[in-house]
Amino acid sequence: MADKLVKATAKNGQIRIIAAITTELVDESVKIHKCAPTAAAALGRMITVGSLMGTMLKSEKDTLTLKISGGGPARGIVVTSYADAHVKGYIGNPNVDLPANAKGKLDVGGAIGRNGDLTVIRDMGLKEPYIGQVPIYTGEVGDDLAYYFTVSEQTPSAVGAGVLVDKDLSIKAAGGFIIQMMPDAEELLADLLTYRLQEIPPITKMISDGKTIEQILEYIFEEMDLKILEEIKPEYRCDCSREKVERALISIGSKDLKEIYEDGKSEELVCEFCNKKYEFTHEQIGKLLESIDK
Ligand SMILES: [Zn+2]
Repeated sequence: MADKLVKATAKNGQIRIIAAITTELVDESVKIHKCAPTAAAALGRMITVGSLMGTMLKSEKDTLTLKISGGGPARGIVVTSYADAHVKGYIGNPNVDLPANAKGKLDVGGAIGRNGDLTVIRDMGLKEPYIGQVPIYTGEVGDDLAYYFTVSEQTPSAVGAGVLVDKDLSIKAAGGFIIQMMPDAEELLADLLTYRLQEIPPITKMISDGKTIEQILEYIFEEMDLKILEEIKPEYRCDCSREKVERALISIGSKDLKEIYEDGKSEELVCEFCNKKYEFTHEQIGKLLESIDK
C-alpha cells in the first residue's frame, strides 16, 4: 500500500486519532542512512512517530523535533517534522545490528538504550521553543511517546510504531498511530481501547497483509463511529541548502573559522539528515571570514 497519513476521530470526537502507513518513507530514510536492520527499525519508528506528531503543529512554518538518547549503541536519533507530514531524521550509528530480543523482534529498546531522555522540541517561531522531556520508558519509541503525552501533556495516549525489515534490508511494512483520549472522554472508553489494542495483530502485519490505513482504523474502532477527517502523504524531505550551511559555518565564530582557513585546505560539510555534501574551497572560506569581519 502506498504511504498515507490520516487524521480521524471516533466516538463523537472523544477519541482523536492520527495514523499512517509509512513503508516508502521509512524505506527511503533507511536507504539514505544505509541502516543495518536494528538501526533501520529504530530510525523507522522515530521517523513514523515524527511524521504523525508533526501534523499536530498548527502552522506550516512550525517545526517539531524529537530526540531520543538512551546511551545505547544507536547513539541517539533525531527527527524533525512539519505540519504537512514531511520529515527528516538521522541515527548516530546506522550500523547497529543486535540479536533479536526475547520476543524474537528487532531489539530497538536495546539499540536506543534506557539511560536517557526523550525530548520534544516545538519551534513555533517564538523567542524560545517549547521543550518537553521525559525519561526513556522502554526505548521502544511507541511506549516512550505515549509516556510523554500522558505525563508531560496530561493527555492519555496510546502510541504504536512498527517497522518490518525484509531480508534484503528493504522495508516490507512500516506504520504507526497516535490515539488520544480527549478531556471529555468517558472513563470506560480508555479501558475498552486498551483491550482492543492488545487484541489486534501488529500494525506491520496488517500493512504487509495489504490493508489500507482506513481498513486498519475501521478494524480497531469497529462500531465506534470512526470519522476520517483528513489525509496527507508523508514524505522524506530535507531543506538544507548552501546558504544554510554557510550560515552554520559563520555561526562557529571568526576565531574557529580562521583556524579552518589557515589550514589552507578545502572543507567538506555533510548534511546529517540527507548526506548531501557541501564543498568549500580555501578561497570561499576566506570570503565567509571577510563577511564576518565586515
Ligand atoms: Zn540535507
